[in-house]
Amino acid sequence: MSVFNLSDFADHEQVVFCSDEKSGLKAIIAVHNSNLGPALGGCRMWPYASEEEAIRDVLRLSRGMTYKSAMANLKLGGGKSVIIGNPRTDKTPELLKAFAQAVERVNGRYIAAEDSGTGVDDMKFMSQFTQHVAGIVDKPSENGTRSGDPSPATAYGTFVGIKAAVKERLGRDSLAGLKIAVQGLGNVGFDLARQLKEAGAQLWVTDIHREPLLRAAKEIGATVVAPDEIFGLDVDVFAPCAMGAIINDQTIPQLKVKIVAGAANNQLAEPRHGLALMNKGILYAPDYVINAGGIIDVYYERTGNFDRAALKSHVESIYDNLMEIFARARKEERPTGEVADAIAEERFKR
Ligand code: NAD
Repeated sequence: MSVFNLSDFADHEQVVFCSDEKSGLKAIIAVHNSNLGPALGGCRMWPYASEEEAIRDVLRLSRGMTYKSAMANLKLGGGKSVIIGNPRTDKTPELLKAFAQAVERVNGRYIAAEDSGTGVDDMKFMSQFTQHVAGIVDKPSENGTRSGDPSPATAYGTFVGIKAAVKERLGRDSLAGLKIAVQGLGNVGFDLARQLKEAGAQLWVTDIHREPLLRAAKEIGATVVAPDEIFGLDVDVFAPCAMGAIINDQTIPQLKVKIVAGAANNQLAEPRHGLALMNKGILYAPDYVINAGGIIDVYYERTGNFDRAALKSHVESIYDNLMEIFARARKEERPTGEVADAIAEERFKR
């Protein structure tokens, strides 16, 4: 297998293969681009079926982080790491220590954060062996201190982003009376639904678990629908906050909404689905632009002097970023995702 010729390799600056016989560590650290600063990105632990699958995943994800951080105007590059293994059975202190030492050897060009299969506690443990980890500081919030969890900032950024999309597509500032469907009531989706309700929106929600649905019905008066019903609702906005690839050949024909704007990563199954949304008159808020609240939160934590007002105002700049993308997409008659990529490239290649 040739790594350099993989389409996902796409100008990566550095890819490090790390192993440790004693702990069984097999990991890959990818730094896509560090023009704007150190490459910050999550460390994913997953039982990949093959090494090729792991390489493709880390390359694709690290490239995505370059675009996300550049678009959010952060002094960060893009990187990611993967540990090959099952987080439930293979994650041992020895393995995390060996991985942390591998991160330390990259000497600050890559900063690890939590991702699928790793958590705040793992990052805190790793911080004994490397200073290059993020998402570990207990930060002050309105309700007291909270952990390094970036989800509240992601939810707030998504809320602000929905307001931008509503302004662009429906020409109004208020969400009052709008009908909004939220898919996935996890850390981000539930908080987002609560904020939308407070802003006067009417909510339809779905999840694969009963508990958050019962809570949403009780606490925010949301109407609960089955997971496969969420796509065909006659509402104004669809906010995907569960998993990726939910905008695809099967779901696009069902959509009656005017806006797709939510926190989930990799919402378009393929780039061509962005064009399909545009042709249907549906405004799409590119996922990595609207869900950047989390990376902005982690960045502010890294500055060492956590300033909640500055963080809030930076997260609110997602509104302006989206308005810039929407205006250019309208003028150039191009899908919003393509325009977002072009703007991000202008920023990190400058
Ligand atoms: P989470 O795991 O806490 O929540 C996801 C929710 O979606 C869960 O309640 C789950 O039951 C539900 N779900 C899964 N499959 C579903 C289906 N088929 N139909 C309906 N519901 C389903 O995750 P999260 O942290 O809230 O993140 C949500 C999305 O936002 C993910 O795509 C994540 O990658 C993305 N994201 C999160 C952050 C963050 O700060 N947490 C930042 C950027 C992007």
